Amino acid sequence: MDCVFCKIIEGNLPSQKFYEDDECIVIKDINPAANKHYLLIPKQHYKFLADMSDGQAQVLGRCLKKLKELIPILGLENGYRLVVNQGEDALQTVPHLHIHILAGQKMGWTPA
Ligand code: 5GP
Ligand code: ZN
Repeated sequence: MDCVFCKIIEGNLPSQKFYEDDECIVIKDINPAANKHYLLIPKQHYKFLADMSDGQAQVLGRCLKKLKELIPILGLENGYRLVVNQGEDALQTVPHLHIHILAGQKMGWTPA
């Protein structure tokens, strides 16, 4: 699978990993768009929320529940923003579902 996140998950590409369990990993984004920028990545490869199976939705729910324990690990105590880019107009560049975790600063609100 020619997917950068699958390669990271399989250990074939280095990353700065902050959390890992059987279902997801959290890594630092290589090109941060905020003072703190992490990616929460379910291990199973699929691109769109809209295509999720029931099982994948349950896994994603469990991954999001991990935020409570990730807050102190990632330094998110002052708040954070979750972003999921989906498709061309959103400028999704990696076709493996991932949730951006942005924090460490006050954030503006613009679509682009
Ligand atoms: P998207 O544009 O698909 O929503 O987000 C993809 C994100 O993955 C981008 O923020 C980009 O910086 C990040 N990214 C791409 N390749 C790598 C990589 O090899 N390692 C890490 N840690 N992040 C990556
Ligand atoms: Zn993948």
